[in-house]
Amino acid sequence: MTACDLSALCRGNCGRRRQELKNYKAWIRGMCAQCHYIAKKDGTLENVAAPPRSPADQPRRRPIGHRKIDSCGYVNVKTPVGVQQEHRLVMEEMLGRKLAPGETVHHRNGIRHDNRPENLELWFSQPAGQRVDDLIAYLTKHHRETLESVLNENQKVS
Ligand SMILES: [Zn+2]
Repeated sequence: MTACDLSALCRGNCGRRRQELKNYKAWIRGMCAQCHYIAKKDGTLENVAAPPRSPADQPRRRPIGHRKIDSCGYVNVKTPVGVQQEHRLVMEEMLGRKLAPGETVHHRNGIRHDNRPENLELWFSQPAGQRVDDLIAYLTKHHRETLESVLNENQKVS
């Protein structure tokens, strides 16, 4: 364990990691300043166990790109900005933009870890109703091209 290991667990009773502290510099002898203060006050400071040193005690670090199926059956991928659902990333890649609020990704064949682009479908799922104005604003913002082609098709027919 290095002096600035932000993933280190506080040796006191708070159960926090160093990175969870408001000020990670308030870290004394392997514990947060609050726990250190309490331990010093009640005389237990000397009895606190030494910080873990074996690699087995360290939190496991997965490389970027690491894939894991979660308890719901979806594939989670580790990215530089955190763990994300793979089917959402694939859809964002296909759309060339981030998913908009209310947009979900549906697996056509029902297999939640089958994230081949041809198996994914963009859905717009709102748990409650929504204002028509908001729906039109959403469609013109995120699906303008599709909207325009549908409108042009309709014009030809009528
Ligand atoms: Zn603490």
